[in-house]
Amino acid sequence: LMQIAIPLNFVGFIYREIRQGLADIESMFSVLAVPAEIEDKPGAPALAVSSGAIRFEDVTFHYDPDRQILKGLTFDVPAGHTVAVVGPSGAGKSTLSRLLFRFYDVTGGRITIDGQDIRDITQESLRSAIGMVPQDTVLFNDTIAYNIRYGRPGASLEEVQEAARMAQIAPFIETLPKGFDSEVGERGLKLSGGEKQRVAIARTILKAPPILILDEATSALDTHTEREIQTALDQVSQNRTTLVIAHRLSTVVNADQILVLEAGRIVERGTHAELLAMGGLYHSMWNRQREADEAEERLRAAREAD
Ligand code: ATP
Repeated sequence: LMQIAIPLNFVGFIYREIRQGLADIESMFSVLAVPAEIEDKPGAPALAVSSGAIRFEDVTFHYDPDRQILKGLTFDVPAGHTVAVVGPSGAGKSTLSRLLFRFYDVTGGRITIDGQDIRDITQESLRSAIGMVPQDTVLFNDTIAYNIRYGRPGASLEEVQEAARMAQIAPFIETLPKGFDSEVGERGLKLSGGEKQRVAIARTILKAPPILILDEATSALDTHTEREIQTALDQVSQNRTTLVIAHRLSTVVNADQILVLEAGRIVERGTHAELLAMGGLYHSMWNRQREADEAEERLRAAREAD
């Protein structure tokens, strides 16, 4: 019997490994959507991060040659600062984060980190310096602990728990019968968009990268969840160079600088107060959002009164 049991065990082991491997590859590809054509230059050195300052220098970009998306953008994200990008849908906001992560190369100009053109360094070193909290997080078919620890595989359970606490997801996890050992993903617990995003934030807190890209969820979250996520994001972006891609204005009020992007150009820049005083596009976007929020609030109050 032993003669059969051992190979069967082994087959089981291999099967589990392959299945997890496939889930990982699948998740990575859907998260990263990596175009195959980006390659390291021969002998490219690793990125040497000193302070983590980002610079976009006259960056132009198109996906298709007949449709220019970014039309010459220049801006800095000084080390440790938070710069938020806002603007109408389709303006090119998320494209900026894809270029910084080097899913695509710029078609003109350059992007540097601490003075190094990101095309001259290895992609591996670039991506290990950047923490990305994407719009939609794909979780691995494994436990919550595994999904958080993915940010730094050597982390202890205490560190995983601490990251979950900072990401405002610990109280939720503690309500689950199996806590951190709860299975999530396709065959496990289905987490809501907001919960998944907080798992991604916890993962990023563990990874502790010098640079952060936060691509906010476009889907509307309820006010309570949004506030929790905002608290989590404030924690993780403290003292890190952070580029926030904001699809809602409520989350950018405290940014050191806000860039207003319209049809691939920066049309306004400044702090929230400066932009409001300018009375331009940001000001009208802000008013529109406030009206929408107030209408929603009235609707909710009316429903509760019924
Ligand atoms: P939103 O707030 O709606 O997410 P955005 O400002 O983030 O919008 P981007 O996702 O950067 O907009 O897209 C900018 C433009 O580039 C859009 O017109 C979009 O259709 C186009 N685009 C995005 N990805 C691709 C792609 N892979 N191939 C071709 N065009 C693309």
